[in-house]
Amino acid sequence: MNIPLKHRILARGRRISIRIAKDGTIILTRPRVVSERTALRFLEEKKEWALKHIQHIQKQKTRMASLQWKDDGLIPFLDQELILSVALSRGRSPIHRVENTLHVSAHPDDSERIKTLVERWYRLQAEHYFHLTCSSLVQKLGVSFRRISIKGQTSRWGSCSKQGNLNFNWKLMMAPELVAFSVAVHECCHLVHLNHSSQFWNLVYRLCPRYKDAAQWLKEQGGTLG
Ligand SMILES: [Zn+2]
Repeated sequence: MNIPLKHRILARGRRISIRIAKDGTIILTRPRVVSERTALRFLEEKKEWALKHIQHIQKQKTRMASLQWKDDGLIPFLDQELILSVALSRGRSPIHRVENTLHVSAHPDDSERIKTLVERWYRLQAEHYFHLTCSSLVQKLGVSFRRISIKGQTSRWGSCSKQGNLNFNWKLMMAPELVAFSVAVHECCHLVHLNHSSQFWNLVYRLCPRYKDAAQWLKEQGGTLG
């Protein structure tokens, strides 16, 4: 494998473990009593898993790095990719979608305005998406929410208040749909259990069996959104 590898030795650990860092480096941790050769053999056995994981990270990285606030730029929207078409135009709304093209009324060099308009559009989509998704989830759960608000905090993806108000981050519209869905599931399940008890997690997994994948994605890629 032609991939950066870092060795870590733990004085008291018992097991060999492999972790893939955010930058795609493999971190191989082994207890002091285990030889490097044994650890490398262990890594060899897990090679396929590690490679798959690294490829996934790299794909996401290119996806986010290719965000371009300009004419013909590509932007992610749930599981789709939209093309920006930027031109100063009168009439209609300053931003509207036709199939896979997002038409933005701005000077092609004005990346700030493009970004502002696209963000506004994402927020609107987030409002639609979370209303629709949560309405169907609460129906299944036999509960209800009071209000849904769309926020843009850097580190919070969603929250649920005691009063039954749900908040979601609009940046989730740039993540795969499974990720946005998993956050909706998490917060709606808090309408039933306002804690992280095992009953809460059972409910989450029942509604979103791939919750772990989504949570992992957020952990690794969340910081790259917007
Ligand atoms: Zn929670």
